[in-house]
Amino acid sequence: CGIVGYVGGQCALDVVLAGLRRLEYRGYDSAGVAVLADGGLAAAKKAGKLANLEKELSDRPLPSGPTGIGHTRWATHGGPTDANAHPHLDNAGRVAVVHNGIIENFAALRAELAERGHGLASETDTEVVAHLLAESFSSCGDLAEAMRQVCRRLEGAFTLVAVHADEPDVVVGARRNSPLVVGVGDGEHFLASDVAAFIEHTREAIELGQDQVVELRRDAVTVTDFDGAPARVRTYHVDWDA
Ligand code: GLU
Repeated sequence: CGIVGYVGGQCALDVVLAGLRRLEYRGYDSAGVAVLADGGLAAAKKAGKLANLEKELSDRPLPSGPTGIGHTRWATHGGPTDANAHPHLDNAGRVAVVHNGIIENFAALRAELAERGHGLASETDTEVVAHLLAESFSSCGDLAEAMRQVCRRLEGAFTLVAVHADEPDVVVGARRNSPLVVGVGDGEHFLASDVAAFIEHTREAIELGQDQVVELRRDAVTVTDFDGAPARVRTYHVDWDA
């Protein structure tokens, strides 16, 4: 339902939680976050309101780091439980992904992953993406390239945003039939399903086109199509009273 990603000099968790708050008006049934810190990945997710997630984070704080993602979920596949909330992780806990939309061919992908020995922890259509990203990353070593490889296998409508503990300064996003916008800051970048999530930080934005993958670093934005061909990036000014 709502997606936020961040890489930059601020505490990613604070930026992501504030962004999720700005997206609350859309409605949701669960929420979660993941941050990259100290060479690893840490995540928290809870069914119910953002206040439940915030309580969880005050009981069990996540380490502070410069890269993070967050999600508010409106369940389509799998009930609104803690386990089905996003982010979804691979079995090693190195990749985290959040998703808006529906992966139509998830059942076939789940069966394929189970056959290769992956243990799936949720009932969602989304979780297959975390496992597929982990597999692709382990052969290509590049999260944006892994995202392109995985997107070529997906059917349906999706906005995906992912991080990998082995690329701690990178947030990757992808979209098909579902919106995704980059917020361009000074030494920091944002990703969101809606500009409302980052409007308090920047009004410079890039709208991702259909079937594109974006790689964000603190000082760089790289956009390609699903085959890796570079795409032209056009920045626009968000002219909107938030
Ligand atoms: N289909 C996904 C799920 O049910 C994503 C739902 C959403 O867009 O929030 O978990």
